[in-house]
Amino acid sequence: MKSIRLRAGRERSLLRRHPWVFEGGVERGKADAGETVRVEASDGRFLAWAAYSPASAIRLRAWSFDEAERIDASLFERRIAKAVAARARLGIDSDALRIVHGEADGLPGLIVDRYGDVLCAQFGAAGVERWKAVIVEALLDASGALRVYERSDASVRGLEGLAPRTGWLVGEGATEVEIREHGWRFVVDLAEGHKTGFYLDQRHNRRRFAELVRGFGSRRVLNCYSYTGGFGVAALAGGAEHVTSVDSSAPALQRAVAHVALNGFESARHATLDADVNQALRDALEAGERWDAIVLDPPKFAPSASHAERAARAYKDINRLALTALAPGGLLLTFSCSGGMSVDLFHKVVAGAAMDAGVDGAIVERLGAAPDHPMTLFFPEGEYLKGLVIVKAT
Ligand code: SAH
Repeated sequence: MKSIRLRAGRERSLLRRHPWVFEGGVERGKADAGETVRVEASDGRFLAWAAYSPASAIRLRAWSFDEAERIDASLFERRIAKAVAARARLGIDSDALRIVHGEADGLPGLIVDRYGDVLCAQFGAAGVERWKAVIVEALLDASGALRVYERSDASVRGLEGLAPRTGWLVGEGATEVEIREHGWRFVVDLAEGHKTGFYLDQRHNRRRFAELVRGFGSRRVLNCYSYTGGFGVAALAGGAEHVTSVDSSAPALQRAVAHVALNGFESARHATLDADVNQALRDALEAGERWDAIVLDPPKFAPSASHAERAARAYKDINRLALTALAPGGLLLTFSCSGGMSVDLFHKVVAGAAMDAGVDGAIVERLGAAPDHPMTLFFPEGEYLKGLVIVKAT
């Protein structure tokens, strides 16, 4: 077993059970991509067993802080079984859910989503890449799923020095799977969809939106960054008269149209707009359009804290426009899925947007990722999705 020695003082984060060590923290030692190494403090004492990633700025990802623990196939079997069992207790009203959420499940770099009897997995770090065969076996065992599709095409693969790879790992056939979320039906394309196909982290926020639309009696709804129309279906289910889905992806909008029909809603209650949201909101304001409820669920504007300032401006702009375009008493669901933007900063940005818009309102609820996307107490980077429900003053 190779040892990696950390620089003096750089043992602190592992001692706090944070699973990462950056390149600059390493004093000496080398290993192959994904190889298990013993990480030691500058005085030689054991800190963790970790996967070594020679090409990544995140040089080490800890598997275990327990010197007695063996990093072998049974560890992956145990962790995966535990992750699957943990989801079963959450009472998730869907057959589509995240069964492995990386660091939070003790499997740094691994994301696995379940869509019915198909799994979609993303191997985002050298460690899990090296253990892929063992992981796939353990996933089949623990979940009872029949097929596994790989979506290792996220940009983080490049940062890890790993080539992108997509395709079936187990099984074959159509990559379109129908799922049922809160009784609503959606078709997910494992091969072409964003991420692993569907934004599962917004599941309970979609249901919450349906309840709020019902409670507020919202009639006209604007679903910005709609992707395949999840929040739009929720709004229609909540009794909205009309929903407009805005997205810059034509294939996503086509699916949104199909989802409205699949859920039994008249097509006349839904319109799509293939456009940049910022521009669409400006045009709508100029035309004097107003909505009773607006969802803003943009892509990651700030992938890391270093992008936070520029991202803050982009978030502020769309929130200002949306708050202006809302009818008095209207409802805004606004999100940021940027890991680089804290809950506090997001709150400030939205407050600044309201100030600029000359709009008063109240935050009636804070939202986060669905519980199958847990955060560990020791890994603050795991908190990424945050949302606010704002009611515009009358
Ligand atoms: N709310 C969705 C997920 C949104 S993901 C759901 O619940 O399923 C973000 C979406 O924003 C993607 O579909 C992407 O195509 C779209 N997008 C990215 N940049 C955009 C822009 N400038 N204008 C409009 N849509 C954009």
